[in-house]
Amino acid sequence: MKKQRLDRILASTGIVSRKEAKEMICAGRVRTDGKILSSPEKKLDPETAALTVDGTPLSYREFYYIMLNKPAGVISATEDPREKTAVDLLPERLRRVGLFPAGRLDKDTEGLLLLTSDGQTAHALTAPRRHVDKVYFVRTDLEMTAGDEDAFREGIVLSDGTLCLPAELSVLPDTAGREARVTLREGKFHQVKRMLLSRGKTVVFLKRLSMGSLVLDPTLGPGEYRELTETEIASIR
Ligand code: URA
Repeated sequence: MKKQRLDRILASTGIVSRKEAKEMICAGRVRTDGKILSSPEKKLDPETAALTVDGTPLSYREFYYIMLNKPAGVISATEDPREKTAVDLLPERLRRVGLFPAGRLDKDTEGLLLLTSDGQTAHALTAPRRHVDKVYFVRTDLEMTAGDEDAFREGIVLSDGTLCLPAELSVLPDTAGREARVTLREGKFHQVKRMLLSRGKTVVFLKRLSMGSLVLDPTLGPGEYRELTETEIASIR
């Protein structure tokens, strides 16, 4: 791995700020192979340097991957002067590691939001040309019908003339036609809501359940998060 400045390596773990990292190093609290490192500018490979802080091994990770069950009322952004953001829901340590949302959900949409510092993987999951499946649970004001399912399969035309790729609408049994699973292979602005509106139905609840192989952990309540497992990370990279 590429060598990096020691203060940057420490700060990238989120445990301390860059300024605090410098102070720690200058105070002689950071070692490699038992030897004190006293220069914040010293360049090292973070994966092989076997760094310790006050004798405790530093757990360095190149990238972070957080699965958030986004609640309604927060926006898919890193920071905003007025609104509460998805990143605001995380503890300070994780807010420091450069996370951003891979794709967006509307403010009133709930469910799976991946927050990561890995730009390449975020791009692979969200780039329009990759056509990664995104699955949603949706509830509407009026009954969804077999005709709506056919229209989704054929490709909906939105009110402004935009043509959507063929998608899947699967009305759930015993819901009076008000609940369905929707699978999209693209991510246009307000797409699920606009597709259903073109069929005369208003979405009253929307939740993302999965993106490609990444499935929302059902044990996470709204606003809860966890780091991805190694298996999950390998499946999306
Ligand atoms: N479609 C929508 O309409 N909103 C979302 O948040 C996601 C998909």
